[in-house]
Amino acid sequence: MRTVALLLCIIGSGIPSFAQIQERVYDYLFFENSILPGHYFFSDVNYSEGSYVKNVRGKLPVCESEFFTPPNSLVLNFTTGTGSWEAGVVIERVRGIDTFKTARYLSFWMHSGSTTGNMLPEVSLCKLEKERRTGIIISDERSPSIPVQKYFTGIKHNEWSFVKIPLEDFGAFEGRPNKISFSNSNDPGDGKILIDQLELLPDVAEIKLPRPDKILVKGYEMHVDVSWAPIENENLKYIKIYRSEDNKNFHAVGIQRPYFNRYTDYTGEANKTYFYKISFIDYQYKETTSSNVNKAHTRAFTDDELLDMVQEASFRYYWEGAEPHSGLALENIPGRKNMIATGASGFGIMAIIVGSERGFITREQAVERMLKITRFLKKCDKFHGAVPHFIDGPSGKVEAFFGERDNGGDLVETSFLFQGLLAARQYFDKNNSSEEEIRQSITLLWEAVEWDWYDREKENEFLTWHWSPDKEWIIDHKLIGWNETMITYILAMASPTHSIPVDMYYGGWASQKEQAVKYRKAWGKTDDGSFYTNGNYYHGLKLPVGVSNGGPLFFVHYSYMGLDPHKLSDKYTNYFENNRNIALINWRYCAENPNNFKGMNEAFWGLTASDGPWGYRAIEPNLENDNGTLAPTGALASFPYTPEQSMAALKNMYRKHGQYLWGEYGFKDAVNLEENWHGRIFMGLNQAPVTVMIENYRTGLIWNLFMQNEEIERTVSELK
Ligand code: CA
Repeated sequence: MRTVALLLCIIGSGIPSFAQIQERVYDYLFFENSILPGHYFFSDVNYSEGSYVKNVRGKLPVCESEFFTPPNSLVLNFTTGTGSWEAGVVIERVRGIDTFKTARYLSFWMHSGSTTGNMLPEVSLCKLEKERRTGIIISDERSPSIPVQKYFTGIKHNEWSFVKIPLEDFGAFEGRPNKISFSNSNDPGDGKILIDQLELLPDVAEIKLPRPDKILVKGYEMHVDVSWAPIENENLKYIKIYRSEDNKNFHAVGIQRPYFNRYTDYTGEANKTYFYKISFIDYQYKETTSSNVNKAHTRAFTDDELLDMVQEASFRYYWEGAEPHSGLALENIPGRKNMIATGASGFGIMAIIVGSERGFITREQAVERMLKITRFLKKCDKFHGAVPHFIDGPSGKVEAFFGERDNGGDLVETSFLFQGLLAARQYFDKNNSSEEEIRQSITLLWEAVEWDWYDREKENEFLTWHWSPDKEWIIDHKLIGWNETMITYILAMASPTHSIPVDMYYGGWASQKEQAVKYRKAWGKTDDGSFYTNGNYYHGLKLPVGVSNGGPLFFVHYSYMGLDPHKLSDKYTNYFENNRNIALINWRYCAENPNNFKGMNEAFWGLTASDGPWGYRAIEPNLENDNGTLAPTGALASFPYTPEQSMAALKNMYRKHGQYLWGEYGFKDAVNLEENWHGRIFMGLNQAPVTVMIENYRTGLIWNLFMQNEEIERTVSELK
């Protein structure tokens, strides 16, 4: 699918820029915890001739009863025969986690039980490179294997021993390994060890950590949020969270990284009382004394309370998780801490309005944030008034994260941003100097966007997605519908200063020209919908407009967070009807689950664009484009179209899958139960649609605000 194909082919090829100097440096972790129980996705095993490694579908099993860092560890259960065996743990690549502490050691914690001496495995560093598309191995560089038994440090915790191997002992190994391989020693026999906290360890100065200050706790239906004052200390490795049901026997339930000051403890039980405390762990694995104890209760929630809970948690991504210099949204968390994503920021502005209206924050707090946002946007890099996809927060400069060609204006991201800003211009309507400034700034920014500049050929046909100041139209991606970019044409037509003619809606966006037909066929791999209109039935539902059988669900979310689809009709269809059928097609497809993927059903559905086992992809409800990855935003941002099916999904995802799916900012980005893969991140594009579309379902708030803009009202009326 070409619309997002561009996004896909350049992800992961981010060119490091000077902004990275101040970026967050991460630990280089091979294994800390598996988010899902059972087995660990980022592992593999091999064995031959009488040797064996216990595995689940080729992956290492996970142990939940014994661990060094809660809640689990890896099981290495092996038999050494005449042949050899090998068990590898592969680094998990996370978008934007690309700056790491300088490594000095390979280290891990090991619970070896009765497996001792020569029965212990050997370990080596590997750098495996695979061809991106085919997965064929291009190179496989390996260090010599080193016997683990030589490297016990003497440091023990309960039955766990600390193993620390200087990297130079592995000989000349260039760069960072992407896989750690355990393999058999020479002695035959059976062995079993547990491995935890496998990583490249830096040398960190021993700065004494303070004892944790007071903690706050808040109970919800089946989880408790534990939070503490943010702490900055280079020697703080992680925060350890303890829970008790009787205020006497505490056990460790999880750990948290210092860049969060909140931990979400999902217990899965309502009507319980829990006691919590936390401690800090340093890079020498010393633990401080613990914090005060605080208690919380869980209790059954009404449907309204569940909606509030989900809306508020997703809103926090844009509130607590914002980039501090601009107040705008990050691409993903965890990820680059300085890198603002402009489209996600527009979504975030709408979430902040919801937050103010629902009392998650005060209106004064929202005003203060909007002043910061608009003051930043007036100063940051813009290209003929359009913002780039990514901006470095501290400097306000464009950040070409998707490659050096993408160093200019991005008209689609610009339209997502202005969808939020125009809703805010209506919401902040008080006659005081702050709200006046917000409105005036938004109008100034809005009037400065040269939408008509992005009509590259000046032939009144297609808008072009990108423009670069030194490479001009090199990306040359024409905007052709129907997909997520409807809002770009609507805003370009609505501009009071640099508008494009309405002809471009029918002649460009809905074009019947060969170029447009080819474009649609290329992404849909079908003739269905290649002339913009479709007219076929899928799963018993008619689809008036859309390529293939409608595409991923973000097509019915991104443009319609402000733009009320009830009020949007062209000569082909009404877009509420159209979008509702696309959501229902998606739901019926998942209920049928023709690929028979684990977990997918009528209460766990919603195929859209998200992170996944093989990276960020747009998932569609058809056999070829469905790989079993489910993103909670798919069903939840569809609330206005499918309230019953979305509510069923919300309850199922929280009550049955909350253990791994619920986190600091609401539901995590995605899960693939078939592969036992689970995303570690939240994404800026996926959290706000949950908050905003639930609000549109409940009150129509953001739709009403955005549609109140006189330019929008006029433009929409011109389409019929
Ligand atoms: Ca662990």
